[in-house]
Amino acid sequence: MGWVTPEAPKPEELSACIQCGLCLPVCPTFRLTGDEVASPRGRLTAMSAVADGIAEVDDTFHEIMSFCLQCRACEPACPSLVPFGRAMEGARAEIAAQLPSAKTSLRQSLLGRRGLGSGGAVRGITRLAALGQLAEADRWLPGRLKKPIAGLRRLGLRSTSVIGQTHRPKGTPVATVGLLAGCVMDSWFPEVHKATIATLVAAGYAVSVPESQSCCGALAAHDGAVDEAKALAGTALQAFRDVDLVVSDAAGCGAHLKELGHWASGGRDFSSKVRDVTELVAESISVGRLPRLAERGVSVAIQDPCHLRHAQRIVAEPRDLLRAGGYTVLEIDPNGMCCGAAGLYSVLRPETSSELGDRKAAQVMATGARIVASANPGCEMQLRSSLGSGFRVAHPVELYAEAVGLV
Ligand code: SF4
Ligand code: SF4
Repeated sequence: MGWVTPEAPKPEELSACIQCGLCLPVCPTFRLTGDEVASPRGRLTAMSAVADGIAEVDDTFHEIMSFCLQCRACEPACPSLVPFGRAMEGARAEIAAQLPSAKTSLRQSLLGRRGLGSGGAVRGITRLAALGQLAEADRWLPGRLKKPIAGLRRLGLRSTSVIGQTHRPKGTPVATVGLLAGCVMDSWFPEVHKATIATLVAAGYAVSVPESQSCCGALAAHDGAVDEAKALAGTALQAFRDVDLVVSDAAGCGAHLKELGHWASGGRDFSSKVRDVTELVAESISVGRLPRLAERGVSVAIQDPCHLRHAQRIVAEPRDLLRAGGYTVLEIDPNGMCCGAAGLYSVLRPETSSELGDRKAAQVMATGARIVASANPGCEMQLRSSLGSGFRVAHPVELYAEAVGLV
């Protein structure tokens, strides 16, 4: 049958692969299995087979595609600039369109405007999770939910949402920034938003958190939920139409917002305004709008979220923030191998996710640091649950804001 949706992998995306294999050593699923079909090249070959009418979008195709973490480590390694993440989103859209059985009830309940896209649903889940933490109820959870839940920060029963807030700096603002509150970020990581707002205001930015915003749609896009991804992209365009810049303090959301041209007309212009918070803060430090401290002998291991390092190609900025906060930065992995969180992957493929999480935890432990910096909520949760007690995992902007006395 071939492809049936406009989102399908494009001929030029697939033909760009010259089969050189340079992506294989950086691919976590290939590293775990040694299996060609679990490599970027193997997955592109499977997509080409469907495009050429040799294979079908069937359960085998679904299994090959769903084993991919969508970490995009293969993209910077590729000399032919294959847009693998885009092609994989297209393949997932085809699976959703041609294989309705692939849509699990778990996915359907988590994705979109009635799931993580709905602030009310996330706030309800948060209150339940907070009560569960108080009652130490995690021991009754099913196995596949136990580890992700163990990665949560300590939640409060009262709302900590920053949605609707506006903040102004002293004097004329450098620019007006709209903060993406996100779905789980706003309810589960309020300290990160607080540090982001305080640091940006101290750097001279006016910060608003538009009330009409919703989930960015990244999880829906990664899972082939095309209608949800498009609807949420349209909401983002409307919500942030009046700001100079859009800032995200969650790497996965920022990466998706920087590629909104795939999902909404006008998305390309919107994407040109999107920045990760570490980009704005590092720039503000470099021009002297934010302070820089001397090294204080506090070690921080740094973890690179895939959607910061591979998708947005941001590597220096989080390190700049930490060094400006006086921290000693310890590297854990020069290749930035995925920690196994990968959106819903940790719930849908718990064994593979755990194995990658354990490898990442071992890399952190080898440094001797007890603090780990991570700029993405899923990675933070994965690190916390894989490391266990005795470690602090925090966003680089939180660590910087604390060091210079902004929070
Ligand atoms: S996105 Fe990650 S897991 Fe998927 S093929 Fe590329 S490197 Fe491998
Ligand atoms: S590195 Fe790029 S061109 Fe080479 S096999 Fe991998 S995807 Fe294809």
